[in-house]
Amino acid sequence: MPTDPLKNARDSYDVIVIGSGLAGLTAANTLARAGHSVLLLEQHSKLGGLATWFRRRGGHIFDVSLHGFPFGMVKSCRRYWNRRIADSIVQIKNIRFDNPMFSLSTSYERDDFTRLLTTRFQVPPASVDAFFDAARKMNHYDDQSATTGQLFHRFFPGREDVVRLLMEPITYANGSTLEDPALTYGIVFSNFMSKGVFTFRGGTDRLIGLMRDEMTGNGVDVRTRCDVERIRVAGRRVEGVSVGGRVIKTRAIVSNANLKATIFDLVGPEQFDPDFVEQARAVRLNNSSTQVYMALRPGESIDEDACGDLLFSSTAPAFRTELLLSRRATSRTYSFYYPKSRPGSDRSMIVASTNANYGDWADLPKAEYEEAKRALIRDTLDAVARYVPDVRRKLDHVECATPLTFQRYTKHVDGASFGTKFEGLAVSRALPGRIAGLYHAGSVGIIMSGWLGTVNYGVIVANDVDAHLMNNSSQTPSRAEVSP
Ligand SMILES: Cc1cc2nc3c(=O)[nH]c(=O)nc-3n(C[C@H](O)[C@H](O)[C@H](O)COP(=O)(O)OP(=O)(O)OC[C@H]3O[C@@H](n4cnc5c(N)ncnc54)[C@H](O)[C@@H]3O)c2cc1C
Repeated sequence: MPTDPLKNARDSYDVIVIGSGLAGLTAANTLARAGHSVLLLEQHSKLGGLATWFRRRGGHIFDVSLHGFPFGMVKSCRRYWNRRIADSIVQIKNIRFDNPMFSLSTSYERDDFTRLLTTRFQVPPASVDAFFDAARKMNHYDDQSATTGQLFHRFFPGREDVVRLLMEPITYANGSTLEDPALTYGIVFSNFMSKGVFTFRGGTDRLIGLMRDEMTGNGVDVRTRCDVERIRVAGRRVEGVSVGGRVIKTRAIVSNANLKATIFDLVGPEQFDPDFVEQARAVRLNNSSTQVYMALRPGESIDEDACGDLLFSSTAPAFRTELLLSRRATSRTYSFYYPKSRPGSDRSMIVASTNANYGDWADLPKAEYEEAKRALIRDTLDAVARYVPDVRRKLDHVECATPLTFQRYTKHVDGASFGTKFEGLAVSRALPGRIAGLYHAGSVGIIMSGWLGTVNYGVIVANDVDAHLMNNSSQTPSRAEVSP
């Protein structure tokens, strides 16, 4: 008989967090540190959401979304997690681009990009400086009508090669396009340019393990394999969740589930005013992804100088968003993981990622879907052979993930890899004004996605929840009152 994942769980908590993505974990930890009793419910057997990993026979461990994040993670992890986590964050210094327009290596920092833009791309230094300054000054309160395409046109008219250099990595990082508001680009690009690209030494499994230890040490009641069926609302106020045949009461809920799933499946549209339902329906989801995971045999290695840490590779003659999403991929981002990524390991791994449309995969009949997966692996191995000659011979294991995989493991509507487009942020922020005690924290609005965006959003929302709990008289005992 399987054990009850809710065994000994209490009947009520100050806060229930639904989902253990980085925003959910950070919100839970922050609220527990503030002295609230917190129940964290995750439907999967593992914590982490998209910040995940998996093991395969032969001792291989694949990281799914550990490709790179900005330096800001160090500060956020030190402040809202702990020093051990922050101190494991290290820079990756060799970022490569290889496409028909240019082939180059960079540390992806402002100084190095300025050097490249002024020497290699022959852009006047004044234009480069003005562009960096304009991007850095952008914030959420700016005019949101200008698009990223217009921003590039203002500083680099007619320069498709420069646009490609500036845009391709950000499109991979958060699914944003030339048509999205310029401020989404400016904020994310400047975050990276401040100090470059960083990774977590030891792998995602180590990070999530350390987070779990910190959270449980702070008193969070962590439960996996707990799929929340319903957020219960009465009189425009949350009263609890239905999960595993039980109702657990609470004064505040932080949903880390997909924004649309939270509104339409967990709460239900009937609980909201029609204008809000309309606003929520209009929110566009961001794209999904495919990945091919390749493990080299123990002892086989990758030429680090030739491949770098992160490689943006494309055979497309020019940068076009729709090409990046196409099932017949011409562009891929490779993450090369050397044994040093996981100290003590002798393994080298390659993960090739593309952005992808859910609809291109979801509507395929079973046999065609399986064939499309085989084609994805075949085409990727052909493509990677340019950088890792003889890769097929060196391989010990290969498999792939499609948008359906991401949907299945995280319940994200349409397998969205980066939450929603910009308008999702306003809807996420408006929830507590519609239903008292209902909050959402998770990738939305492009700027609140990615590892750094979701950790920071978890903190912002935790502070809102803390204020809500402090302003409302206590109906459930706090952790301090019930702890032995
Ligand atoms: C292929 C890929 C590569 C990426 N690469 C990078 C990268 O290099 N750098 C970077 O910064 N970001 C990257 N990202 C994005 C980053 O991983 C995500 O933005 C971030 O991890 C999302 O965190 P989140 O808090 O929004 O929650 P999510 O990770 O989306 O997790 C939501 C959680 O809620 C749970 N849940 C959903 N419904 C329920 C329910 N009803 N009951 C209980 N639990 C539920 C899910 O199981 C899941 O655990 C990548 C994403 C993908 C897909």
